[in-house]
Amino acid sequence: MLPQEQTPRQRIVALISGTLRSARQLAELVGIPERQVEDHLTHIVRSLSRDRAKRFVLEPSECRDCGYGFRNRTRLTTPSRCPRCRSEAIAPPRYGIDLRTEQP
Ligand SMILES: [Zn+2]
Repeated sequence: MLPQEQTPRQRIVALISGTLRSARQLAELVGIPERQVEDHLTHIVRSLSRDRAKRFVLEPSECRDCGYGFRNRTRLTTPSRCPRCRSEAIAPPRYGIDLRTEQP
């Protein structure tokens, strides 16, 4: 039998299960460009929306200078500039998968 090979998407799912990682961290860990990571994450979000046992978690981007949180942002990429203080020191969003322990 061949050794089990995971697709990049399966590896990303495994890497963010129970923890939070940025797209850059995932790109380094999986060995693919950050843009591809974001593409995979988009599909993972879609498939998890049908999975009652798991929940996709998005920790929003935050301005490192004034602490502004990009909470209403739905895109997965990092914003380039803070709308409040114009700083470009933006912490990237981080992604995770929570296993649901109880029904809402
Ligand atoms: Zn700011």
